Amino acid sequence: MAGNQDHFKRDAQGNVYEVDFNYVRTHVPLNWFFEHMLDGKPKPMSGAIRYGVCPNPSCQASSVHSVKVCVKDDSWKCFSCGEHGDVVEAAAFYWGKSHREAGLELMRADIDMLKHYMPPKPDTAIQRDDSALALVLQKVADAAPYPSKHALEYLGSRGISERVARAACERGILITIPNDPFQAKAFLTEVAGQELMERAGLWKPDKKAPACAFRPLWFRSQSHCAAEFRLMRDPKEGEKKAMRYGGKSPWIWEGQTPDEFMIVEGPIDMLSAVEMGSKRTIFALPGCENWEANWFQMMAEKNVLMALDPDKPGYAALEKLMPVLAAFEAKTGIFNPPNRVGDLNDQLKAMRGLTK
Ligand SMILES: [Zn+2]
Repeated sequence: MAGNQDHFKRDAQGNVYEVDFNYVRTHVPLNWFFEHMLDGKPKPMSGAIRYGVCPNPSCQASSVHSVKVCVKDDSWKCFSCGEHGDVVEAAAFYWGKSHREAGLELMRADIDMLKHYMPPKPDTAIQRDDSALALVLQKVADAAPYPSKHALEYLGSRGISERVARAACERGILITIPNDPFQAKAFLTEVAGQELMERAGLWKPDKKAPACAFRPLWFRSQSHCAAEFRLMRDPKEGEKKAMRYGGKSPWIWEGQTPDEFMIVEGPIDMLSAVEMGSKRTIFALPGCENWEANWFQMMAEKNVLMALDPDKPGYAALEKLMPVLAAFEAKTGIFNPPNRVGDLNDQLKAMRGLTK
């Protein structure tokens, strides 16, 4: 604490009376202000971080999915009310104070807390591919708002009910296309078009059909710029069960208990957790090695149940994830019931008597 005494000019009573605006701007990260003062959840985007909350108190409240405020290079701009500025201006707006008063208040921010703050990392700039991919996913989702009969049968065989499958579609996570590859190709060509699919990298120009036409179960990631495409049957020799396109992004099933999270591997385990009745927010990694530390910012000081696969890669991932969650001061527990049989879907199938 002693090191920053120099920045505080005090009167005879010891009250700070002068603001060092440069000190405030360099020592109080704008992202920290959004996350700790406005309780905003960081949403990494291309080259910037977005938040759903605005420092301007007269700016209308918005849904949890809103990303109306853009934070980039230590300045913010709200696309809803048009206000913008730096951290001092954000604080002045939010507290309804003058710049001087807001600056003084910010200078009192807990230095130790600021030191431990890990700012979210912006996504690396989205390539044109990813925006084309996002557009394909949106067009297909709009054209196929309900799970197909085949998808319901397949998910049912894995213990996942129609109720959960429909909810996954409504949430924009699950997208199903015709099970027959010829019908799927015709459907995709009509809905998204070959040119867009080529730009998205889904359709190689020298191929007769896009690879995703052979994988009818699609799981769109939280970023909406990535997805996993899965078979609805056992893979043949040399065939991949699932293919992933787009940037690194998790799947998130928002639960009913805002302070409780669960970390699982992949979308099938996520749906399995929901099916088993979890009310937590389920956070599905696109592979147990495939994550970024800043994703777990949202779990700071929250209760987090780790439910990765009970196998070697799962245990290895757990060892790497635990310190990350500890840095965010999450309270972690490990899902380890006495009758655990495999991954969460194996567990669900065992509960439903579906294990062969
Ligand atoms: Zn605003």
